[in-house]
Amino acid sequence: MAWFKKARTPIAAPDKASRVPEGLWVKCPECDAIIYTRDLVKSLSVCTKCGHHFRLTARDRLLSLFDGEHWVEQDADLKSNDPLTFTDTKPYRARLEASRKATGLPDAILIGVGRIDGSETVVAAMEYAFIGGSMGVVMGEKIVRAAETALARRLPLIIVSCSGGARMMEGALSLMQMAKISAALARLDRARLPYLSILTDPTTGGVTASLAMLGDINIAEPKALIGFAGPRVIEQTIRQTLPDGFQRSEFLIEHGMLDLIVDRRELKATIARVLRFMMPNDAA
Ligand SMILES: [Zn+2]
Repeated sequence: MAWFKKARTPIAAPDKASRVPEGLWVKCPECDAIIYTRDLVKSLSVCTKCGHHFRLTARDRLLSLFDGEHWVEQDADLKSNDPLTFTDTKPYRARLEASRKATGLPDAILIGVGRIDGSETVVAAMEYAFIGGSMGVVMGEKIVRAAETALARRLPLIIVSCSGGARMMEGALSLMQMAKISAALARLDRARLPYLSILTDPTTGGVTASLAMLGDINIAEPKALIGFAGPRVIEQTIRQTLPDGFQRSEFLIEHGMLDLIVDRRELKATIARVLRFMMPNDAA
């Protein structure tokens, strides 16, 4: 008999409501409008009626930001080797294999170098469908390498977060990535290179507690869930009821935790404007 019973579904559970399902028509989970899939793709997976932001894959995220939808991928061959030989209901290796098959990615992050409105930029995008976008040793190493590329070539760095937090299957090794990435971001800061953090639904746990909140500018998508612990844990700890909309972008910006909330359809133009302002001499 198991010692502990799982009370909640694991983070890797597919959550169909937020992703664009396949088919000709899509029903928006927010306003129930029926949208033609092709229109939804054209609007970067934002509901054309109510503005609900469906979750983007890491690849679609990079496509939405880079000029001509063209970029060069970095460190595509890094894979986790299951350092703790971890098993819960399934062996971690089997979870990795299933996620690789489902997403076509080696881990939960994609790094690309390309141009945004003419300016060369390093962009990292997380993939939620890969074990909840969780941050393990591979994500940590890839982000650090992305920061080092930015440093060596004097380019800005953008990280688009979409993650449940640290990857439990890698234990303390995944928590270590928080410090490792923060140190790399500090090196960028000392070199006076901009780092923009884009927070999308959801950005939680160790990702929020490190890289997602360290941007020179922190930009969130509308209504994104952003937080460290979940609301239930907080309510039980502080013994108070939390206000409505707690941990959503709009609440956080009111309380000084974010700099901007930007609709995805305006995101690329906004990033380009911010980068021109922060790196005026490098604009192409
Ligand atoms: Zn809608």
